[in-house]
Amino acid sequence: MKIPTPGSTITVTTRYPSIQYGVDEKYDTHHLSGTVVPSERWFDADWFALKTNAPGYPVSIISTKNVVEIDGVEFVQEEAQPARDVMYTYQGSADTPYAIVQSGGDSWSCDCPGFAYRRKCKHIVHFRGF
Ligand SMILES: [Zn+2]
Repeated sequence: MKIPTPGSTITVTTRYPSIQYGVDEKYDTHHLSGTVVPSERWFDADWFALKTNAPGYPVSIISTKNVVEIDGVEFVQEEAQPARDVMYTYQGSADTPYAIVQSGGDSWSCDCPGFAYRRKCKHIVHFRGF
């Protein structure tokens, strides 16, 4: 979900890890109501500012990572983008080069007979570096 639109008036429920010792509840829940104000340049992309006019804290800077609800509607966290598959080719002694695929960050496969047999091969080592 995207950050709330500046100018809109919302009630946001946030959850932060509890720093109290000896308390079973692992999170502290807060409810804040106010008007979303435009983000400052130094904000991270997933932060927004809420003008609550609360004494001492007239504007709260909120990370969407800590938001669980907006106006009573569950706030669905953006899923981290899965790493894209990267394909390499390795021209060995065979006529057809081997295809090495790196997927999900550090999951590797190769279409050579060695990889089919041992789940590892020198072609992966060549591109991964170990
Ligand atoms: Zn291989």
